[in-house]
Amino acid sequence: MNTLLVAKDVKAYYSSPKGFVRAVDGVTLDINPGDVVGVAGESGCGKSTLSNVLMMNVQPPLKFVGGKLILEGVGDLAVMERQKVKAQVWGKVIALVPQSALNALIPTRKVGAFIKDVLGYHLKLDARKASALAQRRFQELGLPVETLAKYPHQLSGGMRQRVVIAIATLLNPKLLIADEPTSALDVSTQKQVLKMFLHLKTEHIVRAIVFITHDIAILRQIATRIAIMYAGKVMEVGPMEAVIQRPVHPYTCSLIRSVLTPEPEVKERGLSHLAGDPPDLLQPPAGCRFHPRCPQSMAICTQEAPPVVGLGKDHFVSCYLVLEGCQC
Ligand code: SF4
Repeated sequence: MNTLLVAKDVKAYYSSPKGFVRAVDGVTLDINPGDVVGVAGESGCGKSTLSNVLMMNVQPPLKFVGGKLILEGVGDLAVMERQKVKAQVWGKVIALVPQSALNALIPTRKVGAFIKDVLGYHLKLDARKASALAQRRFQELGLPVETLAKYPHQLSGGMRQRVVIAIATLLNPKLLIADEPTSALDVSTQKQVLKMFLHLKTEHIVRAIVFITHDIAILRQIATRIAIMYAGKVMEVGPMEAVIQRPVHPYTCSLIRSVLTPEPEVKERGLSHLAGDPPDLLQPPAGCRFHPRCPQSMAICTQEAPPVVGLGKDHFVSCYLVLEGCQC
């Protein structure tokens, strides 16, 4: 089966008066059909920027600096004109569920009218067809069709989020990227939203999902693979259960051990707190970016960035410990 999206050594920096903020700095990630790839990391690690970069939604002050984004059947998005990517890819092949569902809707437009506007503008669909498409998708996803006649402020936070997810998938995109889709929701609403994502995949409405969150416990309920980001880089990527049960990178270990609702494996190892703050991405540390906070840092870690080492099927780690035959 072909890989849906290959991100290879992707770099995207924000320009600022003080220089470049290296928000995404050499990210390599494959997304295969059937995958739910969780991207986890602390605030400011670059994961939200990555969500936009993966679909080449790059606008100043963000600048695409290098790398490839090979989308199956389309080619390298990084070299395509923005207008072409917008017309051929966004919504149709890759769709984004943005971080704030409320901001994604227009407060003065009813949900159904908003959908007609969007589909009319992007696809030149007439109102009747747009309405039929919306009704069918809402029914498929278990959303009351009456929701289409409501204003966003008449909906709960959870319902708004589910509406935004339904809108993002109206055109059956192959890849759905969701940026912190559960962060502002209570636990029972989170469960409904996760169920909706799983339904999208099992019903083949989408072929793969990239799910961005800081919450590893949430990811464990939905992700097949996990990528751990730190300071603009992927530190470890692998099958979800393998990474949770046998993390290798010291940052992955810290992140897993700091979850507030401990998973059984974490309970055994005990909770811990990761001292220090993430680095300033205007001037990231030399060598391994995690070295100022790493309890296992060695001399070489301060000098050269560690290579990416394969540990088995689909499991890769960027850390010198692996070369020493150790793990965290
Ligand atoms: Fe720690 Fe060195 Fe591994 Fe970086 S490369 S995580 S500093 S041991």
